[in-house]
Amino acid sequence: SADYNYAEALQKSIYFYEAQRSGKLPANNRVEWRGDSGLQDGADVGHDLTGGWYDAGDHVKFGLPMAATATMLAWSVYEYREGYEKAGQLDEILDNIRWATDYFVKAHTAPNELYGQVGNGTTDHNWWGPAEVMQMQRPSYKIDATHPGSDLAGETAAALASASIIFKDSDPAYSDKLLQHARQLYNFADQYRGKYSDSITDAKQFYNSWSGYEDELSWGAVWLYLATGEQTYLDKAIAASDTWGTNQQGLWDYKWTHAWDDKHYGAQLLLARITGDPKFVASVERNIQFWTTGINGERVTYTPGGLAHLDQWGALRYAANQAFISFVYSDWVSDSAKKINARSFAERQILYMLGDNPRNSSYVIGYGNNAPQHPHHRTSHGSWADSQNLPINHRHILYGALVGGPGSNDAYTDSISDYVSNEVATDYNAGFTGALAKMMILHGDGQQPLAGFPAPEVRDDEMFVEASVNVSGSNFVEIRALLNNRSSWPARVSDAMSFNYYIDISEAIEAGYGPEDITVSAGGYNQGATVSPLLPYDADNHIYYTKVDFSGTPIYPGGQSAYKKEVQFRIAAPLNTNFWDNSNDFSYQGMPSNSVGPAKSLYIPVFDAGVHVFGELP
Ligand code: BGC
Ligand code: CA
Repeated sequence: SADYNYAEALQKSIYFYEAQRSGKLPANNRVEWRGDSGLQDGADVGHDLTGGWYDAGDHVKFGLPMAATATMLAWSVYEYREGYEKAGQLDEILDNIRWATDYFVKAHTAPNELYGQVGNGTTDHNWWGPAEVMQMQRPSYKIDATHPGSDLAGETAAALASASIIFKDSDPAYSDKLLQHARQLYNFADQYRGKYSDSITDAKQFYNSWSGYEDELSWGAVWLYLATGEQTYLDKAIAASDTWGTNQQGLWDYKWTHAWDDKHYGAQLLLARITGDPKFVASVERNIQFWTTGINGERVTYTPGGLAHLDQWGALRYAANQAFISFVYSDWVSDSAKKINARSFAERQILYMLGDNPRNSSYVIGYGNNAPQHPHHRTSHGSWADSQNLPINHRHILYGALVGGPGSNDAYTDSISDYVSNEVATDYNAGFTGALAKMMILHGDGQQPLAGFPAPEVRDDEMFVEASVNVSGSNFVEIRALLNNRSSWPARVSDAMSFNYYIDISEAIEAGYGPEDITVSAGGYNQGATVSPLLPYDADNHIYYTKVDFSGTPIYPGGQSAYKKEVQFRIAAPLNTNFWDNSNDFSYQGMPSNSVGPAKSLYIPVFDAGVHVFGELP
């Protein structure tokens, strides 16, 4: 198998979390195509719920997968801090975990109150555009004592408790704060029991609590035990295991893996390690066997190319999570055959994802050979028209994102519309990132992350005018102009766009007329412009212009009628004159007729809030 740069893979995998940030971005934001967004989140309920991560290719902030992801990442630092250090990525991973934990602290608005979702799944998914220009309502949903959610509160407690451990040395005050919130949230989860998706019912369709909350009651308590050393938490973690889901033989489930819903896999592994209790050890080992050698003649499906393929939807994420679990198990178990079996499984799965597969293709965007370029991800696509088909290619590289992945025959199509195999998600990268940290420890000697990462993107035109001649006569010209806002570095709403149209009136002067004799008017069709009378630009050389100003009309890359506004304007000499000549006019250069259709003009400069952003001046 080929050599892979794990330092680079880790660097990129962490960067993906930066690209998912919601809220006001800090000065050290590395993603040049991301800007502030979701700044009103929580305003509907009188709280500041800005921040956190957009879940996937969409812009909902789903609390359960967000917390599960943060816990998984913090767990990976707890286990493999050395791997992050070795790759020069420790600050980066801590910074990105903190982005989530800061948000959970805000979302925890009272001891027994936690906001667990911002944005409505259906409303959000109905629109295909960049986060920075979202216009839909983003309702905030919470759990509280009368609408409990032990899974969500338990997982958020786990996230904050695990993070409190990894921040303890570098920022003890922050670590304490996280721990306080974790304790309260765990109490809330424990005292007021229920599934969060029965309280936040909008989550049912997207992240239903299938496995229930008993697993998170253990999971949250295990992490609180590790953070505090308090026996009561260990007792609670063990007690809750009595209520974990079982199969017909009365065994805890072992045919899935640790993921956003079911945490008993992680809990039993930590409990096995902490207590040595054979019931936990045996359950961990059944799960490891199911994914490797098989157990009682049953084994996870393998693709011919060697991917352990648990489920069609986001197959790679499950294999990556199981790889992380297997690494942790392998590092703990003493039996050397078991150790090697689990470790080789984990390595093989990660190598598959990085490119060692029948397609010789990476499944990590912007990494390795033939990586996906058309992920189901709104903001990196950069559509201005609320369309997955426009533009054809993504405008941004979503470095580091692990896509859903191939089918059970190793086949895969890189299609933007395929959210089952080609979406990306914060939870997809969680176990993957941790497993990469371990790969770095094992195989990363001498490897370095990329210097100067990320390279600046090649930008296309963001704001410009498309124009054609609507009609021209012996004393006038009428221009049809469409002012476009296709901004994407980052996308932005502007209600202060304008453009200038320049003409040369030498022929009018020769005929004995002056600029005051020439009128400008917005004609037949106008979506919000005002046109100025003729203004001097270079009066000595008879160059004048009209400013066509859309101030007060929001133009933004959010749909067919949002991204461009049209105006038809007429510049006219007095009636019955016939000296009019467009051919010397600066802005007329290259102007097509209406039958050819409007074309982007370099000679109609565009201004955004007074700043010249596109086109040439005479
Ligand atoms: C969204 C995806 C989402 C899927 C299933 C699609 O419309 O674009 O982000 O995963 O629906 O909910
Ligand atoms: Ca659960």
